[in-house]
Amino acid sequence: MNDFEKQTAENSGDGLRSLKIGTLQVNLGLQCNQKCAHCHLQASPSREETMDWTTMQLVLEAAKSARCQLVDLTGGAPELHPDFCRFVAALRQEGHPVQVRTNLTVLLEPGMEELPEFFRESQVQLVASMPCYLEENVCVQRGKGVYEKSIAALKRLNVLGYGSNPELPLNLVYNPGGPFLPPPQPVLEEDYRRELSRRFGITFTHLLTITNMPLGRFRVELIRKKEEGNYLLLLRKSFNPQTVEGLMCRHQLSVGWDGTLYDCDFNLALGLPVNHGAPDHIQSFRPEDLRMRRIVTGEHCFGCTAGSGSSCGGALV
Ligand code: SF4
Ligand code: SF4
Repeated sequence: MNDFEKQTAENSGDGLRSLKIGTLQVNLGLQCNQKCAHCHLQASPSREETMDWTTMQLVLEAAKSARCQLVDLTGGAPELHPDFCRFVAALRQEGHPVQVRTNLTVLLEPGMEELPEFFRESQVQLVASMPCYLEENVCVQRGKGVYEKSIAALKRLNVLGYGSNPELPLNLVYNPGGPFLPPPQPVLEEDYRRELSRRFGITFTHLLTITNMPLGRFRVELIRKKEEGNYLLLLRKSFNPQTVEGLMCRHQLSVGWDGTLYDCDFNLALGLPVNHGAPDHIQSFRPEDLRMRRIVTGEHCFGCTAGSGSSCGGALV
């Protein structure tokens, strides 16, 4: 057992295990119109990795056989995939609830003009990156001009009913601007609500706070500033046993752009597929072999159990 498994053993038994596959998270590729400073997947406009249609069809079958409650599409910018709309339509036709993780600015790219209406008509749920309500902080993390475009995209989505119609959820994602833990999610949500409403009349459903994982570009930056050791120590020292039950790897499964299966998006970033005897590719997907699998863990996992906990769905407690 590694240190993380020893730490969680009291709450989950020997070797952290999954409990169900409620969500199937699908990474459609690493191409993105942005190149954010904290991106754990090191996505950028020059990345060419992308899921092929054969793999997408296997994902459709997997979602059906696992009876997932949600198919969560991510990237890169998933909207840049050439078969994005076709894939979403096929998932919706099968009755799967679909969520898209959007960086917002992609909605303003040429050729994407009708995407917001497509989202609404397909009743796609949206999770949108918005690491601060202040322009300066957003631009430091995500690039010059990103704030302005993100606000324009949010306004457009609001006009369509996103963020006010309960059937069109629009959740925003905050992550810290440096090597520290997020503030309490409900408190920050109120700040966002007040400031975005006052400045722009923008509404949203919920704010999700996510801890920066010591991976990808964020890790490179930690190393460059000689802050990695202290940050890893902070994550370890902030271990909260109450987060263990809700860890996202225990409730979901991640599919990489090439069909490889991972316990979560962070293991995907590290190239650590599902292991311990469970099938590790969508071609051999069998829900009964994956539901109670033993999860592949490591030092980075302390990022999910620190403080209020962290997941793609925000704080855990
Ligand atoms: S963090 Fe998101 S928006 Fe930024 S480069 Fe990575 S995938 Fe793209
Ligand atoms: S990093 Fe992944 S495997 Fe580790 S605790 Fe978090 S969700 Fe689970």
